[in-house]
Amino acid sequence: MRKNYLLTPGPTPLPPEVCEAMARPIIHHRTPQFQNILKEASEGLRYVYQTKNDVFILTSSGTGTMEAAVVNILSPGDTALTVQGGKFGERWTEICQSYGINAEVLDVEWGKAVEPKEIEKRLKAKPKIKAVFTTLCETSTGVVNDIEAIGQVVKNTDAVLVVDAISGLGAIDLQTDSWFCDVVVSGSQKGLMLPPGLGFISVSPKAWKLAESSKCPKYYFDLKEAKKAYDKTDTPFTPAITLIIALCEALRMLKEDGLENVFSRHKKMADATQAAVKALGLELFAPMAASDVVTAAKVPHGIDGEKLVKAMRDTYGVTIAGGQSELKGKVFRIAHMGFIEEFDIIVGISCLEKVLFQMGYKFQLGTGVRAAEEAFLK
Ligand SMILES: *Cc1c(COP(=O)(O)O)cnc(C)c1O
Repeated sequence: MRKNYLLTPGPTPLPPEVCEAMARPIIHHRTPQFQNILKEASEGLRYVYQTKNDVFILTSSGTGTMEAAVVNILSPGDTALTVQGGKFGERWTEICQSYGINAEVLDVEWGKAVEPKEIEKRLKAKPKIKAVFTTLCETSTGVVNDIEAIGQVVKNTDAVLVVDAISGLGAIDLQTDSWFCDVVVSGSQKGLMLPPGLGFISVSPKAWKLAESSKCPKYYFDLKEAKKAYDKTDTPFTPAITLIIALCEALRMLKEDGLENVFSRHKKMADATQAAVKALGLELFAPMAASDVVTAAKVPHGIDGEKLVKAMRDTYGVTIAGGQSELKGKVFRIAHMGFIEEFDIIVGISCLEKVLFQMGYKFQLGTGVRAAEEAFLK
């Protein structure tokens, strides 16, 4: 027998209400019944996105919506600024390059947030930059970027601001409209408490203007087609009906809690996780810009980071994430986004302690759990 705990930055655990919704018999999508569901999902998404813009639901993982963002606003030969402070920032560069777009790369040291001033400098130096591609939470490093400040910089230029909010939406604050975010992409399996399979993308009037002249090849992800269908409460192709029904449940839960409470719960989870990690004598990977959705910590000297993650998962059923690319074996990441509560964190920290102890790391057993409990009692 094995009880599994998922503390990874996607997929994240599913609430029973979401599981139940997915067990219902399938319905047809060209029906008034499904139209009501689609309407409810769209309204709920606008609430979570904090926007008046249309939010389209695509059948894809998060990366599909990143590709949709690129191909719908740009043309081959265009220049775009991609902010690269981790694996997901790099993905923006790779997608742009796949479509013949000149990616001006703004390299940010992994573990640091981008300086909005650096973006301003690049935009001034190269006024032909048509879009700025950023990441709300750089899941590979645990860093949260100051999208509000970046919005202030980009809004006064001709460029549009594109935000990858795949691992932040529905977990930390992102005010699409008041922060001047033109295109915001997200996915279902992170803060939104759903399985993978749905992508979301919002488009501002400024971004639609660019979309008018976009010449990148596209078919499945053509947002003009999505918009035509959307205006008739429809979708251009067969949507992931079951996932959209489950989305309504998840959105209902988020609405019931209220975004403010959802954000403060995530902050509490992050505070406790950070306190525990530090109490164990470990260092945060991104101490200056740690996000509330995933905590990255450095693996201590003499400990094999990959073995640590593996032992937690294979011996005890507690799945956390290791490091990606250049951070492989050097960091571990404990996610606390979506359907995660206090005692999930306690389980995660307790398991981390047990395995660290068994691997010979020297510390007082219980120190991390105690620090987390104290943080929760605050
Ligand atoms: C998970 C994640 C992605 C990739 O999403 P997929 O659903 O795996 O395609 C992109 N960006 C960020 C910030 C993520 O956390």
